[in-house]
Amino acid sequence: MPSSLRSKPYKVARSKTGLGLFATATIKRGTRIIRYVGRKMKNADADKLYTKYVFELNSRYSIDGKSRRNIARYINHSCKPNSTIDIARGKIFIKSIRRIEPGTEITYNYGRGYWDAFIKPKGCKCDSCVAGRKRARKAAARRRVRSKG
Ligand SMILES: [Zn+2]
Repeated sequence: MPSSLRSKPYKVARSKTGLGLFATATIKRGTRIIRYVGRKMKNADADKLYTKYVFELNSRYSIDGKSRRNIARYINHSCKPNSTIDIARGKIFIKSIRRIEPGTEITYNYGRGYWDAFIKPKGCKCDSCVAGRKRARKAAARRRVRSKG
């Protein structure tokens, strides 16, 4: 079936950190969920843009995905993602690496460069990191209680 006739298994919705992309149907592992679309440009030109939506395609070209038409730009970062980047024949896809149930937010790991530039300064807000910090706070609280006793 052509993909245009198939209803999309995702929608843009509120996430904890703004907007995100959520599964509306079960997405099987290994599915190319959506394509990251945008203007193709030389890396040298892309380097001059300070935008969060530039995606390096290969050693020569990047895709500037800042257009609202690019629904994939709503996908948030996670350090424990359910999807990954799949680049094939000059096209960027977001592909599931496990089965994603309806209602689950679709995420991928943005990579080290992006993380250092945009996420690290503010602290990562992905579920995995938030849960990790909560555990650390609880453990610290337990230590405080013990040292008082
Ligand atoms: Zn994280």
